[in-house]
Amino acid sequence: MSQPITFADVVCCGCSCLCDDLQVTVAAGQVAQIAPACPHAANYFAIAVDGEPNYTINGEEATIDAAIAAATTLLAGAKSPLLLGLGELTIDGQRAALDWADRLGAYVDAGNPAEPDPSGVVLQSTGMITATLGEIRDRADVILFWNADPATTQPRHFERFSLDAPGRFLTGPRTALAIDRQATATSARAPLFCESPLSQNLETAHTLLALARGKKIDRKRVPKWAEIEQIHARLASATYAAIVCGPPFYGGADGAAILETLADYVRELNRNNRAIISLERSGPNWIGAAESIAWRTGYPSPVRFAADGPAFDPTGYRAAKLIARRQVDALIRFDGDWLTKASPEMLSAMAKLPVVSFGWSESEHPAAVRFHVAKPGVECGGSMHRQDDVPLPLTQVLPTTRMTTEEVIRQMMNA
Ligand code: SF4
Repeated sequence: MSQPITFADVVCCGCSCLCDDLQVTVAAGQVAQIAPACPHAANYFAIAVDGEPNYTINGEEATIDAAIAAATTLLAGAKSPLLLGLGELTIDGQRAALDWADRLGAYVDAGNPAEPDPSGVVLQSTGMITATLGEIRDRADVILFWNADPATTQPRHFERFSLDAPGRFLTGPRTALAIDRQATATSARAPLFCESPLSQNLETAHTLLALARGKKIDRKRVPKWAEIEQIHARLASATYAAIVCGPPFYGGADGAAILETLADYVRELNRNNRAIISLERSGPNWIGAAESIAWRTGYPSPVRFAADGPAFDPTGYRAAKLIARRQVDALIRFDGDWLTKASPEMLSAMAKLPVVSFGWSESEHPAAVRFHVAKPGVECGGSMHRQDDVPLPLTQVLPTTRMTTEEVIRQMMNA
């Protein structure tokens, strides 16, 4: 039996923190140990021995050539295909997918179909002051977690980037603040916690902005006035304030307006001290998908590739809307965690369409043609972007017979 091998400085794609300091030990063809320990990382690096064939047509095992031929035939009959789930791919996979979309004249929604993210549009419309996670670690003395619970969703966020990380330029302890729908593992670390429903976020952001601008406020009409005033006071007196927002903060119907108001508030704070917004992403490479589509088309997604160039519609081309309105007649679906959060309505509408899917584990979601591909950062390398847009190289730690998504797409385009 071969000796165990330990890989150093491995990047983990278990969440959008992309921690790049893991020691991964492989023995008998499986990941045997991960250090430091993280429950989400353990899940991500676990490869199920499922016996699923690498390629299937209508659930039956097929050769790669037959699967490519079946997918090509299926898509040749489609007038308006849609690519979705690009955040599950490496940057190389996303670039190949966009080349393919251009060839097909397809719609592409690079955002998480289950959790709308208006940040690309807000960045283009009003701009947003952000920072790397390293800058937050080294400088932020006050951190507000707003609908963000990294203690649960990003288990090593505190030790690597925020509350428990040593800050190179900090002169005293950090202060944590929290606003959320209910108490969380993260709010338990905050001496000042404001319990507030998501529907109140826009008003709360406007109240903070009014406070920063010294406007007159009818306090009796503002729910949670005392807490909001204290939160503003702590943020305004910080040397470096970081506001960490989770997907529920910006993923609702008025997410763009909330994010724009928060961006205005943070600009006001910057008149006297430094303040930034840090957005948690719902998976490993959704921010990379937004970058890939912007590099390719100049738009922040979603787009449609047309004969006269790409067209952009931030709301009308959203995957959920296109599928609900039956404006697409075939799907190229990149499977991953986002499917577990998709609404039942979206899943049932998708099930009525012909699907070519790419994934790295057994899937309960139907697909006419399915490519079982190598899992990024475990069975193949490549690169992904951390939630603060820092690109990081992935390491292949396990051998595999599976092709990468990029290789399948390039082979399909050359067939
Ligand atoms: S916090 Fe996220 S990126 Fe870091 S080790 Fe855990 S799952 Fe991986």
